[in-house]
Amino acid sequence: MLKLVPPREPTPSEKLLERVKKRARPDGMLQCNRCGGRTLMTLTHGVIVKNGRKQRGTIIEKDVCYDCHKRGIFSPMIIKLKAVK
Ligand SMILES: [Zn+2]
Repeated sequence: MLKLVPPREPTPSEKLLERVKKRARPDGMLQCNRCGGRTLMTLTHGVIVKNGRKQRGTIIEKDVCYDCHKRGIFSPMIIKLKAVK
C-alpha cells in the first residue's frame, strides 16, 4: 500500500540557501540556480602577453558560477537548451 509522506522540515542550511536565492535582484542579473551566488567566471586557456598586451587564448568555460567552482561543482549560469531532433 502506498502512503504519502509529509514533506520534512528543512534543515537550517537549506533554509539559509532558500533565503539567499530569494534575495531581491535587478532585472536580468545572473544568479546561480544551485547556490544563489552572483559571481561568475570565464576560463581562458593559453593567453600570451606580447608587448605588454594580452592576446586572447581559447575560452574553455564561460559564465560558470565561481562559488560552486570553489567547492568543485560545475554549475553554468546560462543553460543553453538544445533542440531535440
Ligand atoms: Zn553556484
